Amino acid sequence: ERLVGSVADGEDQAVEAALRPKDLGEFIGQEKVREQLDLVLRAARARGATADHVLLSGAPGLGKTTLSMIIAAEMGAPIRITSGPAIQHAGDLAAILSSLQEGEVLFLDEIHRMSRPAEEMLYMAMEDFRVDVIVGKGPGATAIPLELPPFTLVGATTRAGLLPPPLRDRFGFTAHMEFYEPGELQRVIHRSADLLDVAIDPAGAAEIAGRSRGTPRIANRLLRRVRDYAQVKADGNVTREIAAAALKVYEVDERGLDRLDRAVLEALLKLFAGGPVGLSTLAVAVGEERETVEEVAEPFLVREGLLARTPRGRVATPAAWTHLGLTPSRPQAL
Ligand code: ADP
Repeated sequence: ERLVGSVADGEDQAVEAALRPKDLGEFIGQEKVREQLDLVLRAARARGATADHVLLSGAPGLGKTTLSMIIAAEMGAPIRITSGPAIQHAGDLAAILSSLQEGEVLFLDEIHRMSRPAEEMLYMAMEDFRVDVIVGKGPGATAIPLELPPFTLVGATTRAGLLPPPLRDRFGFTAHMEFYEPGELQRVIHRSADLLDVAIDPAGAAEIAGRSRGTPRIANRLLRRVRDYAQVKADGNVTREIAAAALKVYEVDERGLDRLDRAVLEALLKLFAGGPVGLSTLAVAVGEERETVEEVAEPFLVREGLLARTPRGRVATPAAWTHLGLTPSRPQAL
C-alpha cells in the first residue's frame, strides 16, 4: 500500500465515512461543478422531479463518491452504491434496477468497466426507465419488459473519454473534477482535523497540503500519519516542523513524491544523465516491473512536469534536476 496512492485502502474506508461533507455547502473547492450541480438539483426539486443522470469524471480520491451522496441528500433520496466491475451480467444490473425506489440515486463507480450487455441494458434504463429481461435461451428466448421507477444514475469514471458515446450522451449533466489547489487542500485538512480532534496550525496544514498531490483522500491520509507522529514524538499539536518531520519518516517529500517516484527520477538523472532512456531499461534500473514504473510512478511525475514521455524514451525536465538538487552532467535533450 502506498501512502500517496489515490485509491482507498481499508483504513481510508473506515475513516472516510466520518470525513465526508454532507451537503454542497460543506464540499470544498470544485466551484464550477458545485455551482452547476446546485442549479441542476434546485431545478429538479422545484419541479418535483427526479434529478437528471449525472456523470462525474476525475482521478480517484477527488470526491466523486462524496458528491453522489450529497446529490442523494440534497434530493432527500436514498442511495445505492455499486461499481462497474461488480456488474458482470446484465442480470446483475436488472436485479439492482428493479429494486430501486422512486427517486433513488444509483451510484455506479468505474462505470467504464461494466460488461457490454449490462451497458446496453443501462442505455434503455436511463432513457426510458425500462429494461427488457431476457427469459430463456436460444430461439425460445423472450424479452419481458419491466417498468422501472424514475431514478438518478450517478456514474463515475476516471476519464469521460473511456465511455462509449451512446452512454456518455445519456447523462443530462457531466462534470469534470479537477485536482485541488493547495489552498483548498489546506481547508480540507483543517476540516478533517476538526472532525478528528487534531490540533493543527495553518502552517502545519499547508505543509501537508503541499504533499497531497492535489487529492483530498491523500491529504486526509497524510493528516492521520502526521497526527500519529505528533502524538508519539511531540505534544500532539501539528505544526509545520512536526508535519515535515513526520512525512520525512514516511518518505513523502515536499512535492508529494514517495520513494518509488524518487527512485525513478534518480535513476533517470544519475544513471542515464536525464535520458532519453527506454521504459524497460529504466524499470530494470529501479528493480521494478515496467507496468509499475509506467502506471504507478510516471503519471504523477509527468503531471508535475518532472518527466516527459517522448518518442525516443523518458526524459527528465530541468525541474527534475532542481527537485533532486542535481546538476545536469551534459546538455539536456529537453
Ligand atoms: P472518489 O469517489 O472520487 O474516489 P471520495 O468521494 O471517496 O473520492 O473522497 C475521498 C475522501 O476525500 C473522502 O473522505 C472525502 O471526505 C474527502 N473529500 C473529497 N472531496 C472533498 C471535498 N471537496 N471537500 C472535503 N472533503 C473531500
